[in-house]
Amino acid sequence: MARLKNLGVTTTGVNPPPTCLLCEMEIPYVHDSGIAGCPTWDRTPESDQLLKCQWRGYWRSRLKHVMVPSIQIEEACFGDMPRLWSCFCRAIIKESDTKYHLTGINMLQERSSEPYHLPKDPTIARIGGRKNARYDNATFIEFYAAKMKRQPSQYKGQRLGFIIHAHCWILFGRALGAMPTEIKLAKFIQSSRNHWRKENLHGLTDHNINWVKPNQALSEREHSCDIYQNPLVIPALQEVITRANTGHSIFPCFSKLPIDITVLISEWVCPADYTLDDVANMRNMLFTFQWNLPDWFWRRRLQEDLFFELDILRKSSSPVNWQGLRLDLMSLVSDRTWYTTRGLANRERILRNVAAIGRGAGMS
Ligand SMILES: [Zn+2]
Repeated sequence: MARLKNLGVTTTGVNPPPTCLLCEMEIPYVHDSGIAGCPTWDRTPESDQLLKCQWRGYWRSRLKHVMVPSIQIEEACFGDMPRLWSCFCRAIIKESDTKYHLTGINMLQERSSEPYHLPKDPTIARIGGRKNARYDNATFIEFYAAKMKRQPSQYKGQRLGFIIHAHCWILFGRALGAMPTEIKLAKFIQSSRNHWRKENLHGLTDHNINWVKPNQALSEREHSCDIYQNPLVIPALQEVITRANTGHSIFPCFSKLPIDITVLISEWVCPADYTLDDVANMRNMLFTFQWNLPDWFWRRRLQEDLFFELDILRKSSSPVNWQGLRLDLMSLVSDRTWYTTRGLANRERILRNVAAIGRGAGMS
């Protein structure tokens, strides 16, 4: 049983399970079946093998700690283990009431009574290493998980940190149009604590994760979506955005038709409450007639705030096929099974917290 150094009192039941400040998820164990698919304690051979293959250039079998630049974790797609992102965390460490700093990334394996360990350098991520390797003080920082409300008396004199997913941290910045280095940490923490004092930070879990394989969709869920799906890196979304950037804009051929007539016909083919079939019919019609519809027509059908990726396209100097892109996005959104199980509904859920915390921090 771990003991707090100065006071000689036990921390059991005091250090809360690691919970992400933005998505509210209790950070899962890597050995959970739906995460890395192997019900054994500690890291799984499967997840280590995946990470080893992905970062072959960095992996040396005798290394105590395998470190990669943190951006490689933030941008990674974890292939057959799409939920593995949810094990990678950072923390915002409290130095004083007005001074905080961001750590690097690690997978948190400790629980309840043990302090957590993360790399000190925010540009570094630990992705593996020798089993039971010790965390040295020069490279890693040790801390207890801060509570949203009043800190327990046992924490007096101890280092505290606020845990956050590596990916949720990037999502927060991208959704609010800020570089992570521009975010004022003290304001962010103050706003997060205010938000979670009102909403209660529950530490969301979904036990259905125990009955599926890592790349298998959850057919039954405790929440409105699969909360373990990556809200930042969504491969199908990246594909349609890449396609739009290499496509061509549509130029009107049947310009003799007044715009209100083309809109009237389009609204009939694809109403605001559309289905996947409506989107397919709309695509065929626009391909045939090459109409350009006004932006407001699309905005009534697509919640574009959900796609921070569009900002990059808006600033791009190369031509963008906006209509084709919006139709592709509408296809993704109207496929409810895909939407709820592949990350986009999880992004929508998290963005509600992002907006509230960002507002409180004076960022939106
Ligand atoms: Zn999160």
